[in-house]
Amino acid sequence: MHTATDTLSLIGHTPLVRLKGPSEATGCDIFGKCEFANPGASVKDRAALFIVEDAEARGMLQPGGTIVEGTAGNTGIGLALVANAKGYRTIIVMPDTQSKEKMDTLRALGAELVTVPAAPYSSPCHFVHQSRRIAEETPGAIWANQFDNIANRRAHIVGTAEEIWTQMDGRIDGFTCAAGTGGTIAGVGLGLKEKDEAITIALSDPHGAALYEYYANGELKSEGSSVAEGIGQGRITGNLEGAPIDTQFRVSDAEGLEWVDRLLAEEGLCLGLSSGINVAGAVRLARHLGPGKRVATILCDTGFRYLSTLYNPAWRQSKGLAARS
Ligand code: PMP
Repeated sequence: MHTATDTLSLIGHTPLVRLKGPSEATGCDIFGKCEFANPGASVKDRAALFIVEDAEARGMLQPGGTIVEGTAGNTGIGLALVANAKGYRTIIVMPDTQSKEKMDTLRALGAELVTVPAAPYSSPCHFVHQSRRIAEETPGAIWANQFDNIANRRAHIVGTAEEIWTQMDGRIDGFTCAAGTGGTIAGVGLGLKEKDEAITIALSDPHGAALYEYYANGELKSEGSSVAEGIGQGRITGNLEGAPIDTQFRVSDAEGLEWVDRLLAEEGLCLGLSSGINVAGAVRLARHLGPGKRVATILCDTGFRYLSTLYNPAWRQSKGLAARS
């Protein structure tokens, strides 16, 4: 054991755990990268740190400056903790559809929180556009711009992918996850392909997102909807440009939720729905690759962030989702 020199050095270096149920269901070894073990309890701490340090290196962020971002919540939490550790202010713009736990956490971290009604990306009221305008109007502020700022995916090329490769002793056949900004899938995909071109990179896309159709048929088209927070993209973001996607699966909320419930009941892992969708995707990828293969995915954040939603029977019922068995 050793001591860490500061909070920021705790970001990344997360454990990789073999998921027993998914492995047994497929005759493969399926591993989950425990991103809930980051200090902000999600995968987005990595992007937050890289985005802030990139802005510092470019001289865009001065001591006492402000970081502004539009986020479903986890990036905001990551940015707020990095900002606190480095002496910056944060202003977070978030759609009011996100979980109460994320909003409470952001306020607790001292971020200035602006909640806005959900609006389509084409509307000037969309939270991403509102955050850009606030950044432009605030002296000494930067706009983190996680969707198009490729410092985001760099965190996964040099961090997540490298760690997965080392933790699996270079024996990995496939990787899959869903996309929000696309930083994780693109960065891990690029990083792993650098190690071994033969590793299959699969996108697990929720309903309501347009990427499944894009990678399958070249057309950005969506159908249905999902209640999963943090994933579901309708465009090719800067981070998704050149992402090495070999195959794709469309994963329903019901399929993801089944794994969320099983992983908690059978393995004691309390996860959010994007993690469940990733695990369901990993099961599909394992079946696609065949028995004996080794597949990795991302356990994006902690289920404790969704006690009022996913783990609340009344909320589930209101969304037409199955109750826990
Ligand atoms: N799951 C959750 C819970 C998230 O908050 C995010 C980030 N938006 C993702 C998955 C997707 O990660 P990325 O932005 O790297 O695509």
